[in-house]
Amino acid sequence: MLTLAELNTCSADTFVNLLDGIYEHSPWVAQRTAAARPFATLSALKVALQQTVLRAEADAQLALIRAHPELAGKQAMAGTLTAASTEEQASAGLDGQRNRNGGNNHSDGEAELETLRQLNAAYRARFGFPFVLAVKGHDGQGMPRSAIIATLQRRLRAQEADERAESLRQIGRIAELRLNQRCGHVPTLGAQALAACEALAQWSDTPEGLTCTYLSPSHQRCAAQILQWMRAAGMTAHIDAIGNVVGRYRSDRPDARVLLMGSHYDTVVDAGRYDGRAGITVPLAVVEMLHRTGERLPFHLDLIAFADEEGVRYRHTLLGSRALAGTFDPAWLASLDADGIPLRAALVDAGLHPDAVPTLARSAGELLGFVEVHIEQGPVLLERGLPVGVVTAIAGSCRYQLQLTGVAGHAGTVPMALRRDAAAAAAEIVLLVERRCRATAGVVGTVGQLDVPRGSINVVPGSCRLSLDIRAGDDAVRDAALADILAGIADICARRGIAHTLEPVLRTAATPCAPWLMAQLGAATARAGLEVVSLPSGAGHDGLALAALTDIAMLFVRCGNGGISHHPLETASADDLDVAAGILADFLRHFTPAPAA
Ligand SMILES: [Zn+2]
Repeated sequence: MLTLAELNTCSADTFVNLLDGIYEHSPWVAQRTAAARPFATLSALKVALQQTVLRAEADAQLALIRAHPELAGKQAMAGTLTAASTEEQASAGLDGQRNRNGGNNHSDGEAELETLRQLNAAYRARFGFPFVLAVKGHDGQGMPRSAIIATLQRRLRAQEADERAESLRQIGRIAELRLNQRCGHVPTLGAQALAACEALAQWSDTPEGLTCTYLSPSHQRCAAQILQWMRAAGMTAHIDAIGNVVGRYRSDRPDARVLLMGSHYDTVVDAGRYDGRAGITVPLAVVEMLHRTGERLPFHLDLIAFADEEGVRYRHTLLGSRALAGTFDPAWLASLDADGIPLRAALVDAGLHPDAVPTLARSAGELLGFVEVHIEQGPVLLERGLPVGVVTAIAGSCRYQLQLTGVAGHAGTVPMALRRDAAAAAAEIVLLVERRCRATAGVVGTVGQLDVPRGSINVVPGSCRLSLDIRAGDDAVRDAALADILAGIADICARRGIAHTLEPVLRTAATPCAPWLMAQLGAATARAGLEVVSLPSGAGHDGLALAALTDIAMLFVRCGNGGISHHPLETASADDLDVAAGILADFLRHFTPAPAA
């Protein structure tokens, strides 16, 4: 078995030899990485190798992609692949030998392989390089053939530049799995967290896909499962009055204060499996490990699986965390869901206690802070080739509805110079929003709704409605961008003779993460041998509610599939969740309470 110590101390030539085959027929990756030794951890080595690939010249990257064999191709059938490729393709049943999770029927398998060959040929014809996929998948156990075919069909429709980048990322994942195997590394905690997310995903409000809305039968089934896991991991646990599952890994110290961790277990409609849930199952795996080894902490660790964050069933989001923060408004108990069921009745039906919700409010004095692990739900870490990042703030939003009024006219008779075209003004505004937000790091702006009411193919648009959503992790940065955009809109409308009205829809302040907690998460990340990157969260999270009560921090975990989230394609790897679990465990062991204010 290969060890990190050996890789760190051997000659550069030996280093290249020891890593032979980690990158298919491409020893230059190891050659160029040798000088960056020593590596503190296997994760650090993986990141460094992949950074070499990402920084390489385009020709070298293309040659690396082309060095990969076709899946279920001629070489696989003829048995002339490298040993690593042979084993990987066999794990996904691509060697014509067996078919995991697929039809047992031999002719079904043959038909799938034939589909795969045709898609491979189409892919190569379109992009000029073979389809590269880490067929062992995000859990390292091997993807079913049907999933491989679906991935190939999806990627066949992508743009070439995106496909090259995705191929390099898949090569990084292949290298990671090969390195794991060569070093005998098993991402135990990450695999455990991933498996727990898969287990929770079996309960859905819908027969297909995953939808788990607040207090539905599937939601209650998840709560019962999480409760059981918490108890098995050595925690005292209960389901509270609003449906949060609350587990405590108790300290031996009588005067101990409480560190809160956790995330939500409800989902959006047709959701991914890791949003929220990974923030429960990763700390759960860590606590289970501490319990198994008899390791205690000098503080109580409360792991909370929040019952409602997404707000799908009742309009109010963050119901679970607001109850703890003491900002739950009892008037919300009268809110109705789409079927006319009041929140109060839904709680009672689930065996919960609406009148006890106000008693859930925690007192700030007993708390040390709140730390949440969450998938990034975006592409930043993926693009940078890093497994985790430290969140700086949960972005605040400004939203407006904008109404433009020009003059409608005949598309044939009104000369261009005499037009007051509301849609043309809107087009300029969309580009202004894009240009201004691109100019400042950390600001994002979106026109998601754009409508020409009662528009007609032969009429100059007399009116146009559009939405505006501007976000940033820093309110001053956001407001500066917003001021420029609003001034620009006024200019565009004045120049074009268009009247405009601007209706504010929403304005929320950014919620900063506590610098002292960020520093401790960053220090644990650095001790894992990884670059510490900070990034804002563009999406809302439970920390928004808990920030009213205590200091908050978040650790983001890289997503796959382009960073897509709130979607069945949402994914995260066992290895990345394992890195997060390792950092979390280290963070807990080194945790120092906030310096007194
Ligand atoms: Zn979430």
